Amino acid sequence: MFRNHIEGVPIACEVCGYLTMDAHKRGVGGICPVCFWEDDELHKNPDEPCDGANGGLSINQAKANYRKYDAVEKRLVKHVRRPYPEEMPSEQS
Ligand SMILES: [Zn+2]
Repeated sequence: MFRNHIEGVPIACEVCGYLTMDAHKRGVGGICPVCFWEDDELHKNPDEPCDGANGGLSINQAKANYRKYDAVEKRLVKHVRRPYPEEMPSEQS
């Protein structure tokens, strides 16, 4: 059984905060379709640049870029999409 969206447990992207990541696929290079952040389980310090993944951006740099460009890097804007309603974080309900 496959669905169009995430199977299993959706979790929030570290950068954009939308529920685009799959808890079952942590650390296997899932890329957020909303901001293009590449999930990096080993990346714990938000100020430390990722080596390899995410073009050397830190989480905090990526967040700043997302606020400016709607993607973690300006050149990636064309690859991202708007979040689906079901991907909106539901914390405030
Ligand atoms: Zn994201």
